[in-house]
Amino acid sequence: MSSTLHDLALFPGDLAPARSFFVGIDSDGCVFDTMELKQRTCFCPNFIDSFGLQAVSGYAREAWEFVNLHSRTRGCNRYEAVLRTLELLREHPGIKSSPVALPKLAGLATWLQHEPSPGLTTLRAELDRTGSAELELVYLWSIAVDEAIGKSAGIVPPFPLVRESLEAMRGSADIMVISQTPSETLRRDWAQHGLDGLVRHIAGQEAGTKSGQLRLATEGMYCPDRILMIGDAPGDLEAARRNKALFYPIQPGNEVESWRRFHDEALDRFFEGSFTMKYQEMLLEEFSVQYPSARPV
Ligand SMILES: [Mg+2]
Repeated sequence: MSSTLHDLALFPGDLAPARSFFVGIDSDGCVFDTMELKQRTCFCPNFIDSFGLQAVSGYAREAWEFVNLHSRTRGCNRYEAVLRTLELLREHPGIKSSPVALPKLAGLATWLQHEPSPGLTTLRAELDRTGSAELELVYLWSIAVDEAIGKSAGIVPPFPLVRESLEAMRGSADIMVISQTPSETLRRDWAQHGLDGLVRHIAGQEAGTKSGQLRLATEGMYCPDRILMIGDAPGDLEAARRNKALFYPIQPGNEVESWRRFHDEALDRFFEGSFTMKYQEMLLEEFSVQYPSARPV
């Protein structure tokens, strides 16, 4: 993704550093325990309904949850998730022998190849431009997902010690939410629990990829060993690596202990300069084994 004024305009306020440290933090599954709720009750049922997969709903659910919860693509952009799930389903023997016709969504694949900020607004523009019936399916699915998420918004509190960690960091670090969730939902979730005032910026899917967001917010502005990304998914780690930043993993299923360790140990190490690559590799050993890149669905 290239840096443009349009991208920068998506960040409220001035991006010039106010502190010498920078912390980027993911939201769903990292700060809030919302991944299972959103994926199982909002994204997946609407995926099955919108794309006519009722007859193979068991396979569809298994594939959706593999892509969005249990594999290296956990936390990816929702439109990428649709393509990846359909790709897995196409290879599934149970689907091959069924009469169900999976949508090809070639227009979605083309759009994702050239769109740096895949979100509802940019999808609407592509739909208006092409008049594609398949893109309209995707658009209506996305709206249905947001409506379902809206009903459960703000119910799930942050993990213990998230607030305390943010409060401990904010005097020394510029903190930014880096996420692929729509910005409106993010602002609502963070405001609902009084966390929005503890961070400098909140960036959602409209501001581009996580890697692109991190680059725009940090490139040439902080020493690499003073930039930290906190996240629960391989995509968060990838964003950190591409920007030569440090990474702290929040382990899915072990989030409370991950935050305790961050609050009691990693945070001081980061500020004192002892958050070394050796320390990071030790943390990542457990993290990496959780996420296969592929498996038969
Ligand atoms: Mg996440």
